[in-house]
Amino acid sequence: RVKAAVIGAGMSGLVAARELHREGHQVVVFERGNEVGGTWGYDPRVESDPLGLDPGREVVHTSMYRSLRVNLPRQTMGFSDYPLLEKGCGDPRTFPGHEEVLQFLRSFAEDSGLVELIRFGHKVVRVERAVEGRRDQWAVEWRTGGGEEAAGVDVFEAVVVCNGKYTQPKIAEFPGRSTWPGEQLHSHNYRVPEPYKDKIVLIIGRGVSATDIAKDILPFAREVHQASRETTPQVLEITKPAGVFQHPMIARAQEDGELVFQDGSSIHTDVIIHCTGYRFHFPFLKTKGLVSVVDNRVGPLYKHVFPPSLAPRLSFIGIPILAFPAQLSELQSKWVAKVLSGELVLPSEEEMMSSVQEHYQRIEELGWPKHYTHKLEIGKFEYQKWLVGQLGLPSLAEWIEKTALIALELFKLVQSS
Ligand code: FAD
Repeated sequence: RVKAAVIGAGMSGLVAARELHREGHQVVVFERGNEVGGTWGYDPRVESDPLGLDPGREVVHTSMYRSLRVNLPRQTMGFSDYPLLEKGCGDPRTFPGHEEVLQFLRSFAEDSGLVELIRFGHKVVRVERAVEGRRDQWAVEWRTGGGEEAAGVDVFEAVVVCNGKYTQPKIAEFPGRSTWPGEQLHSHNYRVPEPYKDKIVLIIGRGVSATDIAKDILPFAREVHQASRETTPQVLEITKPAGVFQHPMIARAQEDGELVFQDGSSIHTDVIIHCTGYRFHFPFLKTKGLVSVVDNRVGPLYKHVFPPSLAPRLSFIGIPILAFPAQLSELQSKWVAKVLSGELVLPSEEEMMSSVQEHYQRIEELGWPKHYTHKLEIGKFEYQKWLVGQLGLPSLAEWIEKTALIALELFKLVQSS
């Protein structure tokens, strides 16, 4: 059994800590905030740079807005033996508000005995091999903030990275963006609609946050517009919020405040909200290039978890996109815990590298950009089933089938209502 550091006490870090602890590992969780729950801890503060471009800004971790209700049925958002059906804060809806998930994660941490494993207020600033050439000695340097500043370095035999993927904004670039005189922010810094009262607002993007924020602002703003690359009738059919004016992407922004779209039309707006996603970001990780982020591809990672040349002592939980996050993190955490204890064995470094290369090749053959590397195929659950196969636990396969069916039924119901 190993002494392991888990970075982050969000949904992924909590379930990773539980699985490692259950497997007999000695676990320390570093959490820079003062609470468990990560993303789910609503924080009304807005960063000093609302676009999140300044690397020196004081980072607010969460991207949660006040009105957010979950976009997945609650039956799919819990753990295999700890479902999100009770232990919340009393919001019984199938798609509850964010407070319900935070309370659920608090209860999970308490009931699983995790709280005493967590060092709150400890920001990890460096993770590096303590001894050159060895995989099993990792220096974890941390700092505390507030009134009692302290710093230190502890050495661990393994590090599990669970720092979340929705904190470092990715913005839309177009000519004139930086000199456009209006207000610009990223959805990471959107909290409440009141500041947009009587304003003309343009939302860029067509994802869940874009649609949610457009709807949130609509009752307050003078007009809400939405621009995106995807404006085919099929896409608009599903994602166009009623009452929101639709446009293709911005071609240029003018210094007189005018925004010109790719179809030549133009409008004058007060605010642009970039709902354009996030970048993976591991500012503390020093691996001398053994793990890097290029065009949002974290790599090389065997099955999105282990960098072959540092496996199994460095691992990442929660990287894949388009999965049920709690389920994904639990399955990955179980795998990591069992590989670290030696109960499961990874292929050789060469075999893991060729698996990664095959995956990259498939992405290239499909003509997809690098940033699709961690996108799972929606609704197929092949990756999750592969993890269950590694773990050899049929009950988890049933859990996957059950949650997939529930989600399908509920989505059908929502669409037809
Ligand atoms: P996070 O929750 O981001 O936790 C990461 C933790 O790491 C944080 O506590 C952070 O403080 C800590 N940390 C980061 N850096 C450091 C450091 N250097 N040192 C120490 N600690 C550090 N999922 C759903 O299932 N359903 C939904 O409806 C849903 N809606 C969402 C809506 C929004 C707006 C967003 C942003 C996400 C949503 N998600 C949803 C996805 C959500 O991210 C996951 O459910 C889940 O919270 C991911 O947990 P995580 O632990 O991987 O990351």
